[in-house]
This record gives sequence, C-alpha cells and structure tokens, in this order.
Amino acid sequence: MVGYPIDGEGIWCQVFAHQPSSGGAAALFLDRDGVIVEEVEYLHRVEDIVLIEGAATVTAAANRRNVPVVLVSNQSGVGRGYYGWTEFAAVQQAMVSALAAQGARIDAVYACPYHVDGRSPYAHPDHPARKPNPGMLLRAARALALDLGRSWLVGDKATDIEAARCAGLAGALQVETGHGRREREAAAALARPGFEVRFGRSIAATLDLPILQPQPQAKLTRSAEEFSPIRRANGR
Ligand SMILES: [Mg+2]
Repeated sequence: MVGYPIDGEGIWCQVFAHQPSSGGAAALFLDRDGVIVEEVEYLHRVEDIVLIEGAATVTAAANRRNVPVVLVSNQSGVGRGYYGWTEFAAVQQAMVSALAAQGARIDAVYACPYHVDGRSPYAHPDHPARKPNPGMLLRAARALALDLGRSWLVGDKATDIEAARCAGLAGALQVETGHGRREREAAAALARPGFEVRFGRSIAATLDLPILQPQPQAKLTRSAEEFSPIRRANGR
C-alpha cells in the first residue's frame, strides 16, 4: 500500500531511527491493546486512546538502557474491513506522540492484518505473522539485529505469550490489564524450562524484569564477593 510501511507480505513493518548494536540487542516487545493503551474493541479512533499508567515510564526506562522497544500488534480489524491502515496510522501517530510527550520512544512497530475471518486479501487460516505465531518478532529481529534469547515481551493474552515463546525469547510478562485477568491461567501453562512467564498488574511491572534491571556486576566484583572472609565464615 502506497505511503505506508507495508512489506511484501502485507505486514506493517515500521522502524524508526535506530542504531543497531554490533552484538545483538535484547529487545522489549510490547503488545499494544490492553498493554500500552486501554483495551477498546477494534481501537481505530484517536479519541479512544487512553495510555495505561506506566507505559511511558517503562518505555523511557528501556530507552535509557538502549533496549529497543518494539510494538507487535494483531490488527484483525484491518483484515476484517472494520477500518483501514489510514485509521491504524492515525492511532499509532497519536499514541507515539503521547508517549513522546512523556519522554518515551517506540523504536519499531509491527502489525499483522491477517485473520481466518478476514476479507480478501487478508483471509488466512493461520498467518505466520499473526500472534501466537512469531513472524512479527522474527521480522523485528532481522531488521534491528536483536538477540531474541535475551529479549522479553509484555502482553495481556496467552497468544502474546505464546508468540514470545515461539520466537525463542527469554520470557514474557503477562499483565492483568486488557484481557489479562481471564488469560492468566492459559498464559501460565506456557512456561517451560528456558522460557519464563511472569505476572504483573500492568505494564508498570516491566520495571522489575531482568531486561530493565541494572547490568550484572562486573566479574571482578562477583569474584571478590565469592572469596570474601565473611561469606566463607557463614559457610556460603
Ligand atoms: Mg492485547
């Protein structure tokens, strides 16, 4: 579609100014509806945008740590013909501006319009980019040179958490906002060795995830601790 960042497969792929890191960056993936903004069924009007408390704080914290913030959103409303990319773009621009006003920057946005009940050309039984499939996360990993194995996702639905697991992320935070309360059990069942599922009231709990914690102490410091007389005396 002319004028919008749509790739050859029809997926919205928008990367804002970004400086790729040489070693591969751990990213913070965020679902949009019910995580960054209050859940509104088929949100497509700017006047319906309500930022969830903590969204700007968390995004700004990631910005300060040079952790790319990547929005990944299923947009079956586009596929079903309820609204178009024009409305999606307007909502995105307003949301990004509202975050920017609070010093928070989204680094990339991915949106998938396909749905089993979509209208042509968006009818698809199980599109590889629609969560719970990992296609949007994999696109971001290629575009931003991300280290998915150290990345985390925040979502309200079990399908968000499953997409994180399918993409090989370190873990996901499932929040109570949006559809989160009734999705908790299904999300919990997705935990596996090597894939951690955490729970929080809202996106604000992202601040407690390892990806936004201070870097581990330098090895020298840890070694000094390990060999300290106090630790030995305690038999630890
Ligand atoms: Mg959601």
